[in-house]
Amino acid sequence: MKDMTVTYEVDGALYVNITNRCSNRCDFCIRNNGDGAYGSNSLWLSREPTCDEIFNSIVSCDPEKYSELVFCGYGEPTERLDDLISVAKRVKEKYSVKIRINTNGHSSLIHGCNTAPMYKDVIDTVSISLNAPNAKEYDKVCHSVFGENAFNGLLDFAARVKNYVPKVVLTVVDIALTPEEIEECKKIADSVGVPLRVRKYIGKE
Ligand code: SF4
Repeated sequence: MKDMTVTYEVDGALYVNITNRCSNRCDFCIRNNGDGAYGSNSLWLSREPTCDEIFNSIVSCDPEKYSELVFCGYGEPTERLDDLISVAKRVKEKYSVKIRINTNGHSSLIHGCNTAPMYKDVIDTVSISLNAPNAKEYDKVCHSVFGENAFNGLLDFAARVKNYVPKVVLTVVDIALTPEEIEECKKIADSVGVPLRVRKYIGKE
């Protein structure tokens, strides 16, 4: 564990890095630019931390003092969905800190089933990167292993998971899209019944 950064602070929230795996290879991914994020140590993991190691790392940081616990990962956290949910449940049993997942929304595509119900009573916020106004553009910038199916897959996940968690948002990065494309993204977000957040580019979501 000494050689790995599992938890790190960003703007008063505690971020949790559980995997480097990802179903995308986004052109804008902060992993293309360096080893860390927001001044953290390297977020490349020499191996994936166990559930106990993740939990202990969270506990050692006194999670109650943070505004939120954010499963983010220098990769896609839902690649380890079972582990993520199991650790989040343990945290919820002991602490009242809110729990968010920053995700590419491929949870159900990765696991080949509807994963949305798993988030119920465990996760407070799911923040999903939309990145583009349509499947072709998404694939152009995100190079998903799911090809053009990735886009509809993430929208389907967003529409389903909003039935199980208090807050779901779709996000786009301001510099990546034209104002017209951002408008299109707003309409898409409306069509699945979740708000769109336009975030400033500072690296990984
Ligand atoms: S930005 Fe997120 S979804 Fe894209 S490659 Fe990086 S970790 Fe994966």
